[in-house]
Amino acid sequence: MTFSDLGLSAALVKAVEEKGYTKPSPIQEKAIPHILEGKDILASAQTGTGKTAGFTLPVLQHLAATKHPKYRPLRALVLTPTRELAAQIYDNIREYSKYVNIKSAVVFGGVNAKPQIATLKNGVDILVATPGRLLDLHDRKALSFKRIDVLVLDEADRMLDMGFVRDINKLISFMPVKRQNLLFSATFSNDIKKLASGILNNPVSVETAPQNSTAKKVTHKVFKVDKGQKTAFTIKLIKDNNWKQVLIFTRTKHGANKLTEKLIKAGITAAAIHGNKSQGARTKALKNFKDNSIKILVATDIAARGLDIPLLPYVVNFELPNVPEDYVHRIGRTGRAGAAGEAISLVCSEEVEYQNEIEKLLKEKLKSTIVEGFEPTDTAPPKRAATQSKGSFNKKSKARSVNGNKPKKKPHFKGNKPAGSTSGRGRTGAPKKNR
Ligand code: AMP
Repeated sequence: MTFSDLGLSAALVKAVEEKGYTKPSPIQEKAIPHILEGKDILASAQTGTGKTAGFTLPVLQHLAATKHPKYRPLRALVLTPTRELAAQIYDNIREYSKYVNIKSAVVFGGVNAKPQIATLKNGVDILVATPGRLLDLHDRKALSFKRIDVLVLDEADRMLDMGFVRDINKLISFMPVKRQNLLFSATFSNDIKKLASGILNNPVSVETAPQNSTAKKVTHKVFKVDKGQKTAFTIKLIKDNNWKQVLIFTRTKHGANKLTEKLIKAGITAAAIHGNKSQGARTKALKNFKDNSIKILVATDIAARGLDIPLLPYVVNFELPNVPEDYVHRIGRTGRAGAAGEAISLVCSEEVEYQNEIEKLLKEKLKSTIVEGFEPTDTAPPKRAATQSKGSFNKKSKARSVNGNKPKKKPHFKGNKPAGSTSGRGRTGAPKKNR
């Protein structure tokens, strides 16, 4: 199967060939023909599968084929949860649209809105945006959604987690009813299904991997270690293995800062990336990490979502996430594009329940190891994982099935996230969490 076989134009095929893509990835092979036919799509695809080209290429083809000779109204909109992901998608769109007469732009918060308004004024065919800033710009009449033909919701699960559901629905209320909708999500929970059923019209389901499954070539390793020993252990791992490029996850922003400082003190180049960092600092940290001028990037879950860091050999969970799906998202950063990767987790006594929940989701036991000199002695009791109801703690918990079906519980985005759950805050005022 080639890109031309999928029905893509010579101009688009030329652009992807220049990117070095020789054949479509599975998600591209499955989604592109349906999108070209104008169908709505509900796609379960992790970052790293090539989903961006999967929706961008057919949308560009549609825009190029139906372009008005004089006017350039906004006709396609890609909504994403984070600034980094928005910037990345925009970069991809620019590359893929090199040989078609389509103008793209990106808007997100945390930076001056004036240049964004000026760009929009000049006419844009396809816009990538985070929901909050987009709504602000719409309120300021910097753009109109009246001519939207295609709406893409990327990483929809994370947008729900971040409390963007109200913004999304509001934005949609300004769009024509007749439009094509493409929804991409790494996980397929009931919340996502609910959102999808309200937006999509008779969608084609596209799946490329078993639901919530981890990338096939990733191996999981757990080191049992005391909470207070984790920093020293991390430094040892980095130094002993001479690691050159590692993404480390912490649960909180404060934890990310603290670990970064200690790594730097130990002579290891590192930077933190999280929601409290300015956009400039985030962009710089990511750039330095990508070009190997720093070895370690310490990130919180939300900041790391969607980052395109090719061929990352290791991902370290300095702390396990208390939401098991976040583990799947985290390890989506390693073993990308078919390369082998290793997910290493440091687990203290308080995190045993988190590990259990993750194993249930993965349907796989994670192999645990104890390293000499770091034998755990902590006896602090385990904390409850976010999927467990209070009553079920310490009882045989109702297992969440791998397709993401949870025991009956109200959706997260209405401000009733389970205790201890860590998520960001959207414009809806959902509880601000510490990461
Ligand atoms: P994505 O899942 O969209 O973030 O893409 C992950 C990575 O795969 C990006 O670095 C893309 O440039 C790359 N990629 C996308 N499609 C292909 C393809 N057909 N062949 C090779 N690499 C690809």
